[in-house]
Amino acid sequence: MKYYVIKRDGRKVSFDLAKIHNAIMRSAKNLNLAADLTDVSKEVENRIRESYKYEINVEQIQDLIEDTLMDLKLIDIKNSYSNYRKERTRIRDLKSELMDTVHNIGVETDRDNANVGNNFSSKLLRIASETNKWHNLSKMPKKLAKLHELGDLYYHDLDSYNLTTNCLHIDTGKIFENGFNTGYGTIRKPKRIESAAELSCILLQASQNDMFGGQSHVNFDNDMAPYVGSTREEIAAEYVSLKESLGEEAFNTFVQNKLVSRVRQAMQGIVYNLNTMHSRAGSQVPFSSLNIGIPQSDDAALVCQIFLEEYEKGLGKNEQPIFPNIIFRVKNGVNRSTEDPYHYLFKLACTVASSRMNPTFMNLDSDFNLFYYNKGILPATMGCRTYICSNINGPEGPNRRGNNAPTTINLPRIGIEAKGDLDRFWELLDQKLNLAKESLLHRYEVLKNLKVKDMPFVVGEGLMLGSEGLGPNDSIDPILKNGSWSVGFIGLAETLVALTGKHHGTSLEARELGYQIVQCIRDFTDKTTADTKMNWSCYATPAEGLSGKFVLQDRHKYGIIEGVTDKEYYTNSFHIPVGFAISIPDKIQIEAPFHKMCNAGHISYIEVDGYPSGETIEKIITYAYEHSNISYIGINFHLRYCKSCGTYINEHSKSCPDCGSKNIQGISRVTGYLSLDERFGSGKIAERKDRLSHDGSEKNTYTSV
Ligand SMILES: [Zn+2]
Repeated sequence: MKYYVIKRDGRKVSFDLAKIHNAIMRSAKNLNLAADLTDVSKEVENRIRESYKYEINVEQIQDLIEDTLMDLKLIDIKNSYSNYRKERTRIRDLKSELMDTVHNIGVETDRDNANVGNNFSSKLLRIASETNKWHNLSKMPKKLAKLHELGDLYYHDLDSYNLTTNCLHIDTGKIFENGFNTGYGTIRKPKRIESAAELSCILLQASQNDMFGGQSHVNFDNDMAPYVGSTREEIAAEYVSLKESLGEEAFNTFVQNKLVSRVRQAMQGIVYNLNTMHSRAGSQVPFSSLNIGIPQSDDAALVCQIFLEEYEKGLGKNEQPIFPNIIFRVKNGVNRSTEDPYHYLFKLACTVASSRMNPTFMNLDSDFNLFYYNKGILPATMGCRTYICSNINGPEGPNRRGNNAPTTINLPRIGIEAKGDLDRFWELLDQKLNLAKESLLHRYEVLKNLKVKDMPFVVGEGLMLGSEGLGPNDSIDPILKNGSWSVGFIGLAETLVALTGKHHGTSLEARELGYQIVQCIRDFTDKTTADTKMNWSCYATPAEGLSGKFVLQDRHKYGIIEGVTDKEYYTNSFHIPVGFAISIPDKIQIEAPFHKMCNAGHISYIEVDGYPSGETIEKIITYAYEHSNISYIGINFHLRYCKSCGTYINEHSKSCPDCGSKNIQGISRVTGYLSLDERFGSGKIAERKDRLSHDGSEKNTYTSV
């Protein structure tokens, strides 16, 4: 009589003893046992036919195999078989999870990243991304995959794990000098400011398609300056016939006026381009950052000034430009004090920030930045807050470098698991740091397999340090050696509450412990740099999607713990909890020391009510930079404007006071970047609700806390 097996999908197939025999032999082979197990297979078949008359399903067969091996006292083989069976089940579960995810993306893309849109291209890209996440998890060592799945560690941009690196500071000036090729032809050195401006956008767009994170112009105003000069020469030549009649001085004024209007057009073009040109198959506009503020010539200062003015004007209906993220670098002797030559640019930056939440500000007088500045290196940063300066394998500084990949530690979980025992906490932290290192070393081994032609623009066109002299089939290893591997953390505040009952805003003891914890991560990455001869750094993780993900996993595991897992999100990196009332000076003083420790990137937010004035922002930034070692600061408020007429409206209005439209757009800062409110993930939505403005009063309660 024919005997059938019912497969998982319901299909009926003929019984085949060879399949059972192979499964048992494979389990033995995994243990390096060379036994002949034909009798065992026969015994399984007997039991099958005894237990089920006409047909049997796959699970029932597997149960009988396990029982038989057990009864025959083949315990090791039984365990080996069970493990194999569990692993297959795990992979099946993952596959079915993947199918659910693909289905859900068809309905609406999830919000892992606040600036990714929701059109067809985005959905297709998300599906590819989920599939490759699954692929990468199933390819990596099981131990590492589990750490990610269970929420101990988080491998950022897992979908890109085997494909590319994170981000890059583009040395725009150098690239323009030499020309470049986007794959469709050679672009020569630009002749005028308009083409330089346009090419600067194309550089960002083309790089973005090669990488998973953002890119910056590392020194935008200075890099544009030569093309202001050549444009001036062009105008002067064109109108040379007027020179005699106007006289030298009037002629120069005439040329300068013409020049200013052309620079203005060019800068406006950048703002429009960076908010409309698509990257990554049309799913988003490029994540772009511009570093400005330290002009080395009057032409550079002109670019800086006009760019800020054009950004302030916004888009067509006065809408908020989401990109680029602008980093205005502040330096004593250049722009910080009233007597500095470019103080007017700092003032302008503050005014623009007061209506546009951009620029953010970076302090070149903080000692770790000054260290490089004094060597002639201009530190820079990115909207994703990536910072890179030291280099164990080549020239220091940010130029042509970026982060390879970060891994973030679920710090609050270690705090919870230590159960108030500090010794245990340090032990667990050390374990997790070593596992984070192991994960990044694995990622390095995977990425090393990439060839130059796999990153055709950023490596192939020589944008990245280390690409010199490489051919299309060479490994990208040299560029990985110049980039950074960063170990990040999230939820220092919740960790401290789990350990001591208080966070660093409320207790001096917790604050000291907070500094020790982050310094411990930094010491670990410094030591790993020396040990591995690669650049390792400590990262204040921005954690867009992660802030909600970790806390859900921990709540599931440990239940609701007051002050730890009772919110929808873990607090960003080392930040004071957003719902905790604190004065601006206190927040600055408490968070400042972390900036130096987090050498892979850091940012502090000052949250203000309504729309601050430029003077208020100048006061905050000047206080911060004169009285602390803090570096990167974003002044946050909740921007809202009428989509119909562009009027800015206050936090609570439901309609536009000018035109009555109810079509209102809200904008907030998530990482360093700005984002449309509706693009926030659920963790971030909850976080924004809790955000409390910081008290702008003069009183400094820092010492009294
Ligand atoms: Zn309106």
